[in-house]
Amino acid sequence: MSAWERVLIDAAPPGGGAGFLDWQAARWPRLEAARTQLDAVQTRTLPLRDRPVQLQWNPGRRVNTTAKVDASAIRARPCFLCPANLPAEERGVAVSPELVLLANPFPIGPGHLVFAHREHRPQALLPALDQAVALAAAGELGALFYNGPTCGASAPDHLHLQALAPEVLPDVGYFSDLFDRSALPGETLLDRPDLGVFLDPRLRTTLVLRGEPAATGRALSALLSGLALSGAEPPHNAVLARHGDRLLALLYLRDAHRPACYYAAGPSQRLVSPGAVDMAGMIVTVREEDYLALDQAEVERIFTEVSLPITPELRETLQRSLAHV
Ligand SMILES: [Zn+2]
Repeated sequence: MSAWERVLIDAAPPGGGAGFLDWQAARWPRLEAARTQLDAVQTRTLPLRDRPVQLQWNPGRRVNTTAKVDASAIRARPCFLCPANLPAEERGVAVSPELVLLANPFPIGPGHLVFAHREHRPQALLPALDQAVALAAAGELGALFYNGPTCGASAPDHLHLQALAPEVLPDVGYFSDLFDRSALPGETLLDRPDLGVFLDPRLRTTLVLRGEPAATGRALSALLSGLALSGAEPPHNAVLARHGDRLLALLYLRDAHRPACYYAAGPSQRLVSPGAVDMAGMIVTVREEDYLALDQAEVERIFTEVSLPITPELRETLQRSLAHV
């Protein structure tokens, strides 16, 4: 019998992602406590040019923000996404051929879900991209997001996606609103009735895609393949969200894993370790002093340090990747 059989329930409880989380929290006291703690999380908005950024003070995320993700630390710990290591109370739902829906016990916001691959295999988006596109386009489980193995994933050794209520991610609302008003987000790389691809260079290097789900998935695949470095996927975070009958996809191209201030000593240290949620405009802080101290200049520096610089070579690669989508 598969190790997942102990975990899987036959049918998803009604009510989409929220329904599943309610069901699971009623049977898992640790999740219920984490959700109660979430009610006390504080947020504030930073005026940062005209693309919104929010700060969140969420002490419950400390284990994720400060996770050691180097290869030896990962080898030394039991994988928390493998079924044999899940807490006894934890249950999952098979939502696609290879992905199992689980609750995230360290939520950033409402609707925080995890989709774990059935096999213990390295974190990578391409092998799960079709399933991610289908889940995001269906829209019942919120906005999906992905952290590359060197870009915020706490489990770089086990393929997984996550989801949150779309309103938690400022960029989802911001770009959806731009498209609703027929305003273009940044430079146009591709503009067709079924698919638009744009480059927004403000603060972080963001590829903004909006189109029919299948076409958007093909473009994402072409971009990830075209930007691959020595066969490995490019360092990135991704967000996929339904926008009417279209799919909105945000691809944040990354450089550094963590900004210099993460490693600083003394009062200039900021424990900020950006993943997709942070890149999408919700910066998670786990210490009150960081939450209170971060200002516009520091946030701009953090985004700049962890984002891939835009060069003529990058533009050329993007154009070439999209040429046959
Ligand atoms: Zn695993």
